Amino acid sequence: MQKILVANRGEIALRVMKSAREMGIKTVAVYSEADRNAPHVKYADEAVLLGPPASSESYLLGDKIIEFCKELGVDGIHPGYGFLSENAEFADKVEQAGITFIGPSSDSMRVMGDKLSAKEAAKKFDIPLVPGTEGAIDDIEEAKRISAEIGFPILIKASAGGGGKGMRIVENADEFEEQMQLAINEAVSAFGNGAVFIEKYVTSPRHIEIQVLCDKHGNGVHLFERECSIQRRHQKVIEEAPSAVVSPEVRQKMGETALMVAKACNYVGAGTVEFIFDENHNFYFLEMNTRLQVEHPVTEMITGIDLVKEQIKVAKGEKLSFTQQDLKINGHAMEVRVYAENPRENFLPDIGTLQTYQRPHGPGVRVDDGFEEGMQVPIYYDPMISKLITHGKDREEAIERMIHACDDYKVVGIQTTLPFGKLVMKNEHFKSGDFDTHFVAKHFNVSDLEAANAEEAEVAALTLVHLLEKRKKQSLNSVLAEDGISKWKLNRAR
Ligand code: ADP
Repeated sequence: MQKILVANRGEIALRVMKSAREMGIKTVAVYSEADRNAPHVKYADEAVLLGPPASSESYLLGDKIIEFCKELGVDGIHPGYGFLSENAEFADKVEQAGITFIGPSSDSMRVMGDKLSAKEAAKKFDIPLVPGTEGAIDDIEEAKRISAEIGFPILIKASAGGGGKGMRIVENADEFEEQMQLAINEAVSAFGNGAVFIEKYVTSPRHIEIQVLCDKHGNGVHLFERECSIQRRHQKVIEEAPSAVVSPEVRQKMGETALMVAKACNYVGAGTVEFIFDENHNFYFLEMNTRLQVEHPVTEMITGIDLVKEQIKVAKGEKLSFTQQDLKINGHAMEVRVYAENPRENFLPDIGTLQTYQRPHGPGVRVDDGFEEGMQVPIYYDPMISKLITHGKDREEAIERMIHACDDYKVVGIQTTLPFGKLVMKNEHFKSGDFDTHFVAKHFNVSDLEAANAEEAEVAALTLVHLLEKRKKQSLNSVLAEDGISKWKLNRAR
């Protein structure tokens, strides 16, 4: 592979290009009018404009991207995450054009792209599933009966769902009908597919996922777990590896189960098998993401494996160069997703210009980003500015480094999730590992943010007073001659 086009933008486009460049591969960026001056465009060896800012007129134009590849002699496309990364039709077209799609086959994507067909594939391998309906259900009476059997609360999910959309919790039979109707309507409008199914709602769940990597020769390994339970709107915001609650025995079992899920869809490349983990440490298969995940760096930090390089090698047809036994967990890694969101306003996206943008540095600190000072965070795309990742010899050190890195990360002009991240790192429940996906609802209070702010303001004020006093003393000293005689007096004496 000589030249790769990255069909994406922002931090992930840049991150993929960096690994490609290290492998001696040329890179091509694509961009929209909103991203003309973005770092991923400047970094690439070549760059092509796709069109206006809206994704539908730029980053989602698969055919146009393939045409550019042909023109520029590109032999591989890396889709990143989001946009076209899970689009089976696009993957097919790429392969038909004689270009390598750096990802799994379109068949694997199709099986895992739909929550119901994913469950069906997993079931054949005896993989534990959350109790629920076997297929889509549209008969309300039947759905009610099944829900009563499973036991409330239950969750109605859209089969085509994603990004936390199309999910409804139903507490009791009385509200069932209304909620089911709402779920169907939401599924139709968001995904154009009204198929819904029912799952037992796990009341105190953790979201724990396993990274897998499989080559085209039948070899597969898992790269341990990532804990992604700190969420808002059913979406991850803080991740870590390994999890504070997974024992070596459970880890091995989850890893083996994840590899069976991969086998169930003949998976090739890097993928993630997501599980829901209950209070009794039982785990159930949720879904498989057939692409690189946002949170992949925490796995890279604890394993020393560059997942993008592995994706490229696998796509080229190489055999995995390591076995399961070669893989070891080294220390602990944390990730805070730095979103342009206001945690004080229920995490509403915040737009504006990065008036000040200074990254933190130091041992065990990694920042994956796609912005520079002075840039605007465009309103057209996901509002993630960067990912702040820390690594330490153990969980305590990774947390401590994250607290300092949050302090050292200077962002002015836009509200971000950084103060929230710092607050989580200091929270007793988080520190002890005692939390679930309801952490934000249970333990996050806006007043704590204000208190942390006030504390910081007080420290800043005290530092200022101290500095001023020091200055005053210094200037007084400089007025005095070394032997204590006032310079003024000396001057007068002259
Ligand atoms: P999406 O594809 O929309 O992200 P997922 O199935 O991956 O949907 O679920 C997203 C999140 O919703 C999970 O991380 C978890 O917090 C919650 N969730 C999903 N299924 C259940 C369940 N059966 N019980 C409790 N929470 C669930």
